Amino acid sequence: MHIYPDAKAVVRDLAPDEPVILNRPHAARRAARFFTEKFPGKVMYAVKANPAPDLIQVLWEAGVTHYDVASIAEVRLVREALPEADLCFMHPIKTRKTIAEAYFKHGVKTFSLDTHEELAKIVEACSDPETGAPAQDLRLCVRLRVSSEHAQLSLAAKFGCDLTEAPALLQEARQHCDWLGVCFHVGSQAMTPFAFVQAMDRTRAAIAEASVVIDMIDVGGGFPSVYPGMEPPPLEDYFAIIARHFESLPIAYNAELWCEPGRALCAEYSSMIVQVTKRRGEELYINDGAYGALYDAAHVDWRFPVRALEDDLRDPEMDFAFYGPTCDDADYMQGPFPLPGDIKAGDYIEIGMLGAYGAAMKTGFNGFGDAECVVVADEPMMSLFIGERKVVQSDNVVSLR
Ligand SMILES: *Cc1c(COP(=O)(O)O)cnc(C)c1O
Repeated sequence: MHIYPDAKAVVRDLAPDEPVILNRPHAARRAARFFTEKFPGKVMYAVKANPAPDLIQVLWEAGVTHYDVASIAEVRLVREALPEADLCFMHPIKTRKTIAEAYFKHGVKTFSLDTHEELAKIVEACSDPETGAPAQDLRLCVRLRVSSEHAQLSLAAKFGCDLTEAPALLQEARQHCDWLGVCFHVGSQAMTPFAFVQAMDRTRAAIAEASVVIDMIDVGGGFPSVYPGMEPPPLEDYFAIIARHFESLPIAYNAELWCEPGRALCAEYSSMIVQVTKRRGEELYINDGAYGALYDAAHVDWRFPVRALEDDLRDPEMDFAFYGPTCDDADYMQGPFPLPGDIKAGDYIEIGMLGAYGAAMKTGFNGFGDAECVVVADEPMMSLFIGERKVVQSDNVVSLR
């Protein structure tokens, strides 16, 4: 496989008309090793953040053995890529057919749930189709609703049972499995480790009230990456607080601790080259946007690091907004994205930190969606895992520390 040194080399070689996704396997490997070495428990990758088979392979080789899948397509995809991986179905709402295919065909034993109805569905779908005998090897995980107040993106409204419902559901689930866990999600890009303290306190209350043996605590995802204007404390601080609170939970002496990161494992994996197709004052029209890898830039005003790839731009930086390629006013990203003041149509830009919920979000809406993927060897534009967490090789992003 050809490996380019960096984005400029890709532009020189391809002069691409369409966006190009630049993948950095070494960055994903570094993130995975960081988690598998430093998190005081098991690390499960949340596949929805980026389901690229190449990435999944890199994570597996770096020691990530468990995969959080949320749809039958994710189950099939990861099973195909990793025949040996442990797949856990962590979406609390599934169809009967999906559960049965996951269990009987793909060896999925671990399922999350947040209602009695879902529990009954899982038990029925996994029982022997001939004899009706219940499955003996189910591993169930009750999803608790916890606050998302410390996260940039909430996951609090949709899933999870309340503290009032949790004890009865835990007791009922305990009747159907030999291995029972509690899971939650504090919201994506949690900017302080304190987010996990509140969630662990709720977990403690639910378990104490239920008085059942708990074999596993899954603290979910939410571990942050780094973006302009969003510089989180070190991940070690999150791990230390989680470990401390885990130690004091009323659970089985051999209970396992799991985490389920998406973003933190893959944000640094990808960036993207886009081309300016038109300039109108402080607005740049580019060839990717709200329906492409820049979904979050448009829909939740996420700021990604940017840099111009031309060598002949001389003017000081100014703040730009972007328009994406589709014929739709909503295809707009307010940024601000700081770039040289003399940037113009035809110039190329690299947009960083798109490995999580970026490259994976591309659609073909309006005929814009094609993107070649290439591998590059340079470092991501920002990193949580390099040195003292300094911004790497870019003068277009705010510098950290
Ligand atoms: C999205 C999701 C994750 C990953 O969240 P990040 O914020 O990307 O770490 C983990 N678990 C579940 C159940 C999810 O829905």
